[in-house]
Amino acid sequence: MTPEENEKKSGGHRKRKEMPDLWMQCTSCNKLVYKPKFEEMQNVCPECNYHFEISSTERIDSLLDECTFEEHFTELYPLDPLDFVAVRSYEDRLKGAQEFTKLSDACVVGTGKMDGLPVVFGVSDSRFLRGSMGSVVGEKIRRGIDLARELSQPFIFVSGSGGGARMDEGVLSLMQMAKTSVALAELDRCGGLFISVLTNPTMGGCMASFAALGDVIFAEPGALIGFAGPTVIKETIKSEIPDGFQSSEFQLEHGFVDRIINRGELRSSLVQVMRLLGCDQAA
Ligand SMILES: [Zn+2]
Repeated sequence: MTPEENEKKSGGHRKRKEMPDLWMQCTSCNKLVYKPKFEEMQNVCPECNYHFEISSTERIDSLLDECTFEEHFTELYPLDPLDFVAVRSYEDRLKGAQEFTKLSDACVVGTGKMDGLPVVFGVSDSRFLRGSMGSVVGEKIRRGIDLARELSQPFIFVSGSGGGARMDEGVLSLMQMAKTSVALAELDRCGGLFISVLTNPTMGGCMASFAALGDVIFAEPGALIGFAGPTVIKETIKSEIPDGFQSSEFQLEHGFVDRIINRGELRSSLVQVMRLLGCDQAA
């Protein structure tokens, strides 16, 4: 008897169907993971602590006080100024991402409260064209920074972009790097606070501009953080790169990241830093 016939005879198929969908295999450690536990830990594997992606909505829910987040700059929608076509047209890819995520573009910026402290908060959504920064993402971040400066509130941004600057928009995406950096320099000049949170992956033009400019830089464990990816660097310099290169842990060791924080402790750590820096007195 084949294993399939044997399984059928013993009711294996029926058994599997009846079983509630409570277990899943972690794609990082391959272990079986209890799904409710995984969800309770906000998409973190309880076995290997791998931090999987979460959506911008889930991130807002996990970090901000309930019902306090108000999205701003919703009037901004991306355009296709170059009529860019690669395998698929940029217009098509934008439409697909908008339908899939119900977002206008790859980041959400607004105001809200964190343990009662008012903040301007933004988060990129890596489900939307890998969280890449085009004109709309750059403009939302720039406006968020300016708003934080005007309101004298901290600016907190959670980055997650494997796409870096969105090359479908050519130089218009690259100029967002300068624009967001200039806005942050102005915030800094006025004594404002920017806390940058790096999640897996934060790469390319995002990391080479605003994401690296935090007064305080936190990272989730095991995140890929850098400019060009390890494979590109390896092929370019034709030599081996160190173990763990471009991980959060590597960046912490080399002074680029201030602290690595598990997702479940991120909110309390952000609040702690804001209180330490006197944000509660300004509130
Ligand atoms: Zn795992």
